[in-house]
Amino acid sequence: MVKGPICNFCAKTGMLCPKCESKLKNGEVPQVAVNLMKNLQELEKKWPLLQKVEIRNIFIIQGKLLLGVNKSSASLLSNHVNLLEEIKQRLRMNEVMVIPVLNNIKKQIAAIFHPYHVNGIDQVFVPGGLEEVRIRIQVPESHGKQQEDITNYVEFLAEVTKLFLKTPVSVLVET
Ligand SMILES: [Zn+2]
Repeated sequence: MVKGPICNFCAKTGMLCPKCESKLKNGEVPQVAVNLMKNLQELEKKWPLLQKVEIRNIFIIQGKLLLGVNKSSASLLSNHVNLLEEIKQRLRMNEVMVIPVLNNIKKQIAAIFHPYHVNGIDQVFVPGGLEEVRIRIQVPESHGKQQEDITNYVEFLAEVTKLFLKTPVSVLVET
């Protein structure tokens, strides 16, 4: 059965056990998780590969559903765009993105910014003592995308990184 931050009982019944309820209450897991896990359980019949999928993090940014999954689940899901499309429609999301959760900060950032090239990552101390992760990336020019679109997308990726690393993030686009 598909694994996620909501237990199988709660996903199936929609009634929340105290453990899952507190996860939702303290914001550890977004409300959409219950609906998502319920739908994934239903989709298992049609897509048996879901039985092997393990979801670690669920985020919604700008109407996009982000799934942080373990490495093998990331390749499984990325190879089945029709399944992702079905999840997107069931949950009425603009997009469904799958990102592997990696324990190496450099690899994690590279996975999020792929296919953009990450030139470097600096850990910075800003006034107040808060550490910030500064990411320098390279964006290919001939992507047919407008500069504004690229800027928005890079901002979106910075937001994603912030949630994944649980730390302040800034992104510098180098030419
Ligand atoms: Zn539960």
